[in-house]
Amino acid sequence: MPLKSTLTEFIIGEQRKYSGATGGFTALLNDVQLACKRIAKLLGKGALAGVHGAAEGENVQGERQMKLDVMANDVFLRTNEWGGHLAAMASEELESVYHIPARFPRGRYLLAFDPLDGSSNIDVNVAVGSIFSVLRCAEGVSEPTARDFLQAGTEQVCAGYAIYGPTTMLVLTLGHGVHGFTLDREIGEFILTHPDLRIPAETSEFAINASNERFWEPPVKRYISECLAGRGGPRAKDFNMRWIASFVAEVHRILMRGGLFMYPKDNKDPAKAGRLRLLYEASPMAFLVEQAGGAASTGRGRILEAGPESLHQRVPVILGSKQEVERIARYHGEHDRGVDQPFSSPLFNERTLFVQ
Ligand code: MN
Ligand code: MN
Repeated sequence: MPLKSTLTEFIIGEQRKYSGATGGFTALLNDVQLACKRIAKLLGKGALAGVHGAAEGENVQGERQMKLDVMANDVFLRTNEWGGHLAAMASEELESVYHIPARFPRGRYLLAFDPLDGSSNIDVNVAVGSIFSVLRCAEGVSEPTARDFLQAGTEQVCAGYAIYGPTTMLVLTLGHGVHGFTLDREIGEFILTHPDLRIPAETSEFAINASNERFWEPPVKRYISECLAGRGGPRAKDFNMRWIASFVAEVHRILMRGGLFMYPKDNKDPAKAGRLRLLYEASPMAFLVEQAGGAASTGRGRILEAGPESLHQRVPVILGSKQEVERIARYHGEHDRGVDQPFSSPLFNERTLFVQ
């Protein structure tokens, strides 16, 4: 029986296939995967290790921080700072760029990460994850600042996430397709179990936080009301809805079986352009989704082309099955040009919500 490839073998194989990658890059990804294994172990102990519950403070974005947010951030920093492959790091949990301590050598890559995504789900034992994005540091920059991280998503060298569910998986793209690895806990290695993941172009499943409905823009209301109208509506088919409130778990479902995820722009807090952060949430996931044949849009443009203006910038996110994402982007375009045709289901005529 042939042995399945480990993540390390896979990365070295890719490196041999495509020029440009270096041994340093392989070593960097080895540190990233070790950070994910360490976090998987912490999460697996759960309440036994006393790691559940809220931390003392808030993070830089005024969000409630869980103890595990702080611990996972620390694991990412400690596991990745020493290897000599990074010029700097940026984390959801840190206001500014993390400089590599002077006692360690510096490298040519930048690592941006969300050490623990979906952390509000920890105490209820629902899947959470870690998201990471690798960028190149510009030549000649010895002391990277936030500005060095503000690159379009198209510049990513690599992106991926780990999902800590019933099994721990790591899903990765180096720009040549998307590949999923499952952690074999007995040998401590990620094993290639899901090569060449592809997202079907069509779907009849969508995920959105419907409690925000009253804040949505007309194109989003139009799309969802058409889905809800089901077989008798303009889409002529019934849809299912999912909502896990863990971005990693939502994207993972879409990579496994298709679907659509939206956290669109809304008018709940006009100061925020969206909910998810561009550099270490939206951008790496958009890279994965596009590499798997799906699409990722803000509604008004490709996420990978949205130039970040700050480290913690937020963006609207619409991603998944290509035909659906393109349809919603078209609805935004029609709305912005004043030529949209809002759908008004007889079911909802009584409700002002769907009458635009
Ligand atoms: Mn997150
Ligand atoms: Mn987080």
